[in-house]
Amino acid sequence: MARYLGIFDPIDLPTTKRTISSAVDRAIHQAEPRLFTQALMELGALVCVPRRPRCDACPVAHGCLGKQSGRAAELPTKTPKKARRKRTIVALWIERDGALLVERRSDDGLLAGMWQLPMTELPDDPPYSEGELFLAARRRLHKLAIGNTIEADVLSVADQPAVDFLAIAEARHVFTHLEWRVVVLRPIGYHQVHIASDHGGAAWVPIGELSKLVWPKVYQTLLSQLLNSLPVHRL
Ligand code: SF4
Repeated sequence: MARYLGIFDPIDLPTTKRTISSAVDRAIHQAEPRLFTQALMELGALVCVPRRPRCDACPVAHGCLGKQSGRAAELPTKTPKKARRKRTIVALWIERDGALLVERRSDDGLLAGMWQLPMTELPDDPPYSEGELFLAARRRLHKLAIGNTIEADVLSVADQPAVDFLAIAEARHVFTHLEWRVVVLRPIGYHQVHIASDHGGAAWVPIGELSKLVWPKVYQTLLSQLLNSLPVHRL
């Protein structure tokens, strides 16, 4: 119908749907509805086919505005989809005495109020080098450490001679307009840094109780992978 009526507006727009719908309504009442519907379906299946409409064999070619435009094959059009944004999430796996450091997402926005590993989000998705991921992780770890005002013996990560990381898991998750690549890094040699659980929504949660928290799907996948192989990753 978009071809026959020469409609170049995207057919997923409500206004276009209304235009086409009323044209069909008008036409169907000028004919035998059952025959009209069958003819329309057969025309679409055999003649006005998706990629190359067979206009030369079309019984309604004389009234077709799409054919007259010379651009029938371009119809129908759809609203172009927005490109999906890509983000790399660097998440930290920090264990202490059988508990894992976790944090609660903000009450607003995506996955509001759900739990996650302490993380930092990199703005786009170039192929980050391992060094760049480690740098982002080091900054996050540093923030966690210096954010602590309760424990007196906190050392900043900057003071640590060799906080390095091991990549222990990775998963992707696709939202409607966003794609996450989540890389989980475990700090190595950070045992002198003490991180309190009372800032930034962070909490030490016993590993056996992690399942009581509400996690986004991608973290459920990662936790399931990691907890199954926990002895390998335990400090
Ligand atoms: S003339 Fe071409 S574009 Fe128009 S209805 Fe027929 S096959 Fe489709």
